[in-house]
Amino acid sequence: MRILVSGGAGYIGSVVATRLLEIGHEVTVIDDLSTGHRDAVPDGARLVLGRVHDAGSLLGDERFDGAVHLAASSLVGESIENPEKYWENNVVGTRRLLDALEARGVPRIVFSSTAAVYGEPERVPVDEGASAHPVNPYGESKLAVDEMLAGDGAAGRIGAVSLRYFNVAGAYRGRGERHDPETHLVPIALQAALGTRRGLVVYGDDYPTRDGTCVRDYIHVADLAEAHLGALCSIGAGAHRVYNLGNGAGFTVREVIAAVEAVTGAAIAVTVSGRRAGDPAVLVASSARAQDELGWRPERPTLDEMIRDAWDVLRARGSR
Ligand code: UDP
Repeated sequence: MRILVSGGAGYIGSVVATRLLEIGHEVTVIDDLSTGHRDAVPDGARLVLGRVHDAGSLLGDERFDGAVHLAASSLVGESIENPEKYWENNVVGTRRLLDALEARGVPRIVFSSTAAVYGEPERVPVDEGASAHPVNPYGESKLAVDEMLAGDGAAGRIGAVSLRYFNVAGAYRGRGERHDPETHLVPIALQAALGTRRGLVVYGDDYPTRDGTCVRDYIHVADLAEAHLGALCSIGAGAHRVYNLGNGAGFTVREVIAAVEAVTGAAIAVTVSGRRAGDPAVLVASSARAQDELGWRPERPTLDEMIRDAWDVLRARGSR
């Protein structure tokens, strides 16, 4: 198939593009490189440089059999300070992209949604029936797109799947997390282990969890990419399905730090500060629906393997 990958220069998008090429699809990446990296786009993919807002003109008369849409602004803290950026990039940008895809008769789209749509969940593990009450503009913007896709699906314009990721970690074929600034726990802990960062601040140790720090469900980026491939093939005309993706096991911030220390052999200097705004205490996924309907199974469920793969890529890059 000919697949358009928006955000294919980013962390998850570049791994999705790599896997699509590996199994024989043709890939066009659209990315404005605002947060992505040109060298993350795999060889063999065509790179169209620009925003999804302009997809209609940038893609010319190119035809696609499907799209995976990952281009987005994705920092919770930034979304609280600058909400209009999130509505503009995530919601308006997606609307323009959908217009361009629907005008070309593209039959299917997989959308990169997020566990952040659930906000502070009422129960864990979180299944797709949980009510969606986002607690920040990032989650609100992603939920708005999920609803946009449901509407377009119901109107028969496109078939869609929203994948609601929990916490993603690990690396695949040299592609790991490279955000600037970095805000995520695993890469920050690895940078501290490598010595390119002084230490790590734990955002709160007074949560109602086993050691007082937040619990998150980590999924390997290669397993996540596999779910995109499965979702792409599963999409029926005019339907919209939602799947939560995680391993169903939660780790505290302190457990993640201990795992990073064990894998790297380095001691990490840790200080504790107050809570970070918008952080739910516990987020753990139920991925039963993805397992039942997509036949998806995580192949790399251990935290150690995610950390080891990310560590190898970080060390090979030498700095950040
Ligand atoms: N976290 C932390 N220190 C950091 C970065 C993250 O204590 O420097 C915590 C954060 O508060 C959350 C967990 O680690 O409880 C995972 O955060 P991350 O930003 O990696 O992912 P999120 O869960 O926000 O998507």
